[in-house]
Amino acid sequence: MILPQILSKDEAEVMGLLVGEAQRIVLVCHTNPDGDAIGSMAAMTLLMQRLGKTVTAVAPNPFPDFLRWIPTAKDVLLADRHQKNITAALSSTDLVILLDFNTLERLGDQLKEWVEACTAPKVMIDHHIDPDVPCSLTVSHPEMCSTCEILLRVMLDMGWTEGLTIDEATAIYTGMMTDTGAFTYASSRPEIYEAICMLLQTGIDKDRIYRNVFYAHNEGRFRLLGYLLYVKMEMLPYHVALITMTNDERKLFNTKNGATEGFVNLPLQIEGMKLSIFLREDTEQKGLIRVSTRSVDDFPCNELCAEFFNGGGHKNASGGSLRMSMDEAVAVVKKAVKKYEEKLKD
Ligand code: 5GP
Ligand code: MN
Repeated sequence: MILPQILSKDEAEVMGLLVGEAQRIVLVCHTNPDGDAIGSMAAMTLLMQRLGKTVTAVAPNPFPDFLRWIPTAKDVLLADRHQKNITAALSSTDLVILLDFNTLERLGDQLKEWVEACTAPKVMIDHHIDPDVPCSLTVSHPEMCSTCEILLRVMLDMGWTEGLTIDEATAIYTGMMTDTGAFTYASSRPEIYEAICMLLQTGIDKDRIYRNVFYAHNEGRFRLLGYLLYVKMEMLPYHVALITMTNDERKLFNTKNGATEGFVNLPLQIEGMKLSIFLREDTEQKGLIRVSTRSVDDFPCNELCAEFFNGGGHKNASGGSLRMSMDEAVAVVKKAVKKYEEKLKD
């Protein structure tokens, strides 16, 4: 199979012009960056450097330690720490590339304001539905597994895969792998494996990438997981599992931000389970509850999160947040499950 083009002739021309005319480029990803956010920024950083550009990669806040090994990840500037460098880069940049998010709300107030104030042309590359940021070029493909997959396809269309490096391929593979739970969901399109085949040909070690990401946790995370599953997991009606975690509980196990990444997926391993919800107190903002949801088959997590949790995302993986106490948030979850009863039954 030959991967078909995803950019129209016009889009490829705009992309070529925007990148061709830019010397300085700023890359931006979403709050609480995941493997796809950091992977796509890293791959784009390396690609643009290969094309002779000066690149600044920016994330709203810190990302988990298990992503730090990704080439260039340690150079990512954080909006909550490197305000001066970021505003300076944005005020002198020729192009801004937005990766792995569809609305500026996903940047948090501070970075959103800076990006909005930036007058340079913008390009968005993303796989969430309904992109709503005014851009010179929007490459939106919700059917694709990850922003990293789209990025590889864009590179292919633009002729930039000529000379694809092992580090670029490693970063791209990481995002595809993390956004699909190591190719266990949202990953049945044959094109994904064509893309992986291309990446493997650069010599990437996919097994090592897997271990770097999924086998890199500390003892505290493991014990916290045991505690949450044994003590805190609650079975709600209609094949729904709910786990809650307070900051006091998290601290008890001496774990850092990001340590609970992936926990929300686990209850779906129970036979017949349709929806898993994880509520956790935000580590910085008091009174804010972060919501993560995962589902199997056709249950629409994105609709649930938009309706009840001020969020959104993908059909089988979405998130949001609630400004209230944990008890109140649990009450909202129970109300939400009741409302979606029909879709969760049998
Ligand atoms: P997670 O549960 O891993 O934090 O997020 C899963 C997915 O839900 C993310 O990839 C993102 O698409 C979406 N998501 C998470 N939090 C929010 C949010 O606050 N707003 C929106 N619109 N989407 C979110
Ligand atoms: Mn993604």
